[in-house]
Amino acid sequence: MTIQAQIIELLAEIQAEMGMAIQFISHNLGVVSEIADDIAVMYAGRIVEHAPAADILGAPRHPYTRALIATVPRIGARARRLPAIGGQVPHPLALPPGCAFSDRCPLADAACRAAEPPLADTGGGHLVACIKADGSTR
Ligand code: SF4
Repeated sequence: MTIQAQIIELLAEIQAEMGMAIQFISHNLGVVSEIADDIAVMYAGRIVEHAPAADILGAPRHPYTRALIATVPRIGARARRLPAIGGQVPHPLALPPGCAFSDRCPLADAACRAAEPPLADTGGGHLVACIKADGSTR
């Protein structure tokens, strides 16, 4: 953890010195929440949600992002087991029809499997690739 913090600090220093952007790829949402201004969440090789970090972490709109955030342990939370996302990430050469997350999504229905949902602006520059990103269960 100490080395991790030092590396993050070093990256921030280099970024400030050079005046550049950094594209940081990680599975560690804790680290991402520390350093990112914007977050793009990928599933099966495709961006499924992209927005300012505060929007993604505070109000995620894609079911995969919501499930990911739910798996992060929280200090003080009393849970016997951490929630897990059921199923497996599909093989890139054998994606399910339509939405690639449909085999694992609790909201999936026939409409989700009919076509790949486009990455669309759901308001305020918050892009989501889900036909139910507005909270509907149609
Ligand atoms: S399009 Fe359907 S299956 Fe895909 S994430 Fe949205 S609700 Fe789930």
